[in-house]
Amino acid sequence: MKLSWGLYPSFPQTPHSCFWRSDMQNLLSDLEKNHSTTLPFGNGRSYGDSCLASSGQLLHTRSLNRFIAADWEKGVITAEAGMTLEELLVISIPRGWFLPVVPGTKFVTLGGALANDIHGKNHHRRGTFGLHVSKFGLMRSDRPHLICSRQENNDLFAATIGGLGLTGIIDWLELQLIPIQSSLIDSLHVRFNSLNEFFSLSSQLDHQYEYTVSWIDCLARGKSSGRGVYIAGNHAKNGSLNTDDAKKIRVPFTPPLSAINSLTLRLFNTIYYYAHNSTPNQKTISYEPFFFPLDRILYWNRIYGPRGFQQYQCVIPHSFAESAIGEMLDVIASAKSGSFLAVLKRFGDVPSPGLLSFPFPGITLALDFPQSEKLNRNLFPRLDAIVREAKGRLYPAKDAHMSAEDFQEFFPMWKQVETLRDPVLCSHFWKRVTHEK
Ligand SMILES: Cc1cc2nc3c(=O)[nH]c(=O)nc-3n(C[C@H](O)[C@H](O)[C@H](O)COP(=O)(O)OP(=O)(O)OC[C@H]3O[C@@H](n4cnc5c(N)ncnc54)[C@H](O)[C@@H]3O)c2cc1C
Repeated sequence: MKLSWGLYPSFPQTPHSCFWRSDMQNLLSDLEKNHSTTLPFGNGRSYGDSCLASSGQLLHTRSLNRFIAADWEKGVITAEAGMTLEELLVISIPRGWFLPVVPGTKFVTLGGALANDIHGKNHHRRGTFGLHVSKFGLMRSDRPHLICSRQENNDLFAATIGGLGLTGIIDWLELQLIPIQSSLIDSLHVRFNSLNEFFSLSSQLDHQYEYTVSWIDCLARGKSSGRGVYIAGNHAKNGSLNTDDAKKIRVPFTPPLSAINSLTLRLFNTIYYYAHNSTPNQKTISYEPFFFPLDRILYWNRIYGPRGFQQYQCVIPHSFAESAIGEMLDVIASAKSGSFLAVLKRFGDVPSPGLLSFPFPGITLALDFPQSEKLNRNLFPRLDAIVREAKGRLYPAKDAHMSAEDFQEFFPMWKQVETLRDPVLCSHFWKRVTHEK
């Protein structure tokens, strides 16, 4: 049985694995015959219900994880869609190549990364993942196998990037990697005392660094509201090209109750904040703790207990960002809710290539909340109202609550995606936000 990463909503899913690309069309036909609809599934690192099939029957692509071609002179690889970023990095780093865009975990598949058109800490430089994909293969129930690129089947190319797995099953993709001289990162950590300080650090330093992101203490109130740590980094020029195989720990089972409450959160946030010096701290570190700090703890999502958690991620255009995010932080702190994982990041103005891509120029805020009825009843409606008012939008890959009205307002291109949707593919998310029967 599969669930999404947030373990909420709980719509258990039966995976049907595809081991060979040549078997995919038959598997898709069988799923159509037996269950009417299905949905491609990568590695389930989406938080809400966008990776859950409305029929409860998934077409699981994870076993399609082979290289098809690789040009290590140019850094161009063609790989099956079920390959994870981890599996790719282990091969590419020793050869001096890194992924152009990585999210906060390396346990996502290439297909999942494209279907959500993911962003990373370098969005201000390189935009989203889809920009670096030149073509991909697409399997649909109603057409022969297609190759999609900016020149060929370009309508499906744009609809599938960020298309939430609804326009067909990506079976392989071609990706341009970026060259690196070392697997180390020259990093900078700077503590800031307010949201205003974050904005000035970000405008002062973002252009000097390939990667930037900030952690914020979402429980701090009054004078400390908006305090946090600004983190920036560049690939180091010197050092070895080693992959990081540091030992992992594993949360072995889901405890009966969530280990996250306002007391543990306040304690964590205060310790984390004061663990950083008030003076800027520069050090050279391995790429793993810089990009994927949470991957050290396998199945960390279980600490939220059986009810799971929801992530709230929005982007607010620059002109309203400081006031809207300040207001949201006040609402969150007064609700005594929030997470140790609260992230702020400036998105750049590189246009996103997908019809439903989430990023646009502005500031993105992401926070995890332990699941409770109060979230959907009280807190999220208040945050949603601020996002609407500020002309922002929410990220479907993280969402389990957005209303159909909000989705259709935030993503007016959804109708075009609906016309290109494969009739055999549907998710719980899509039913919820389009009222698809
Ligand atoms: C700790 C953590 C940190 C994260 N940080 C970020 C971040 O910084 N930036 C960001 O953008 N996201 C982030 N995410 C979200 C994650 O990157 C995305 O949800 C990603 O798409 C998950 O990939 P997956 O392989 O697990 O796909 P799944 O979650 O299984 O599926 C995601 C979507 O892709 C579709 N899909 C999967 N495979 C295929 C395929 N072969 N063909 C067509 N459609 C397919 C599915 O139908 C679904 O709609 C984070 C997630 C976690 C858990």
